[in-house]
Amino acid sequence: APDNGGSSDSCRVRVSVRLRPKNSEDLAHGSDFDSCVELQPESKRLKLKKNNWSCESYKFDEVFSENASQKRVYEVVAKPVVESVLEGYNGTVMAYGQTGTGKTYTVGQLGKDDPSERGIMVRALEHILSSMSFETDRVAISYLQLYLESVQDLLAPEKTNIPIVEDAKTGDVSLPGAAVVEIKDLEHVFHLLQIGEANRHAANTKMNTESSRSHAILIIHLQRSSRIKEENSSLSNDTHNIFPDDLPLVLKSKLLIVDLAGSERIDKSGSEGHMIEEAKFINLSLTSLGKCINALAENSPHIPTRDSKLTRILRDSFGGTARTSLVVTIGPSSRHYSETSSTIMFGQRAM
Ligand code: ADP
Ligand code: MG
Repeated sequence: APDNGGSSDSCRVRVSVRLRPKNSEDLAHGSDFDSCVELQPESKRLKLKKNNWSCESYKFDEVFSENASQKRVYEVVAKPVVESVLEGYNGTVMAYGQTGTGKTYTVGQLGKDDPSERGIMVRALEHILSSMSFETDRVAISYLQLYLESVQDLLAPEKTNIPIVEDAKTGDVSLPGAAVVEIKDLEHVFHLLQIGEANRHAANTKMNTESSRSHAILIIHLQRSSRIKEENSSLSNDTHNIFPDDLPLVLKSKLLIVDLAGSERIDKSGSEGHMIEEAKFINLSLTSLGKCINALAENSPHIPTRDSKLTRILRDSFGGTARTSLVVTIGPSSRHYSETSSTIMFGQRAM
């Protein structure tokens, strides 16, 4: 598709890649450490090296090296989406990748004492809190975990199996029963995100699973009201001008920030029963997400969101006027070549 600047940008998915710095495990491989990726940030390309003879190059909207700051990642990946949410549109920001490559660091890092460490969730709420007026606007959050096709409330852990309801008329998606907590300041945000994290840990320990096996979904609900003057009344037909001069206008929008389950293929042989279930459901939701993202990228009028709960929750927050941004995270080591390659391909299909 031709890249005709901003106009096409709103209807397709913005896809960025972020490379995690080498960690101690990578470094432990010392001299035989071999990186399978090479970034070319100026041309926004990534080279994936299979071996000495085979190397492919892929283009993205942005590629972030291991030195990219949290601030820069926020500004490129999430800020445009947050700005359109402030204007009344819905939006989605998602992190996709193998476990251990930096999804949670990218979206969920709190950085309570070190603001430079803050991830997308905290920065988005900071941005929204500083852009809204407390006299007329309200912001609230819900925080959920989706595990084995069951929606659990991370702010009210006694609530499990929350239904996903779609309004037949408006298409709006809601999760009746899920806690919606109004936010006043950043301290409150930290408090709630910490509660959510603790509940996620407790729930997963009880279910004997890892948090990498579930999706974490933060929903930021924004409601802004303002009184707008009917400035273009002269344009409308006088006989139909039934509006008063001063119109109350309420804009409702929401932003979904999703820390997806690890994309790695789970070895089903020798797995216990519940792990086979996990693998099946993670594959189902990520595959169905991939299909929706492909359809969005192709500007298809039909986005197949019915196949999984993940995509049903996302339904009114991508496509149409909603903006979507996907950050795929990868590690540098050639030991994980095949997972890295399949993550890159997931991102490429969304372009
Ligand atoms: P995931 O959520 O994909 O499983 P994490 O976000 O938990 O991965 O990251 C794994 C580890 O790597 C964590 O200790 C995290 O702090 C660290 N890490 C990930 N990305 C970065 C980065 N860009 N800079 C510094 N540390 C990172
Ligand atoms: Mg994680």
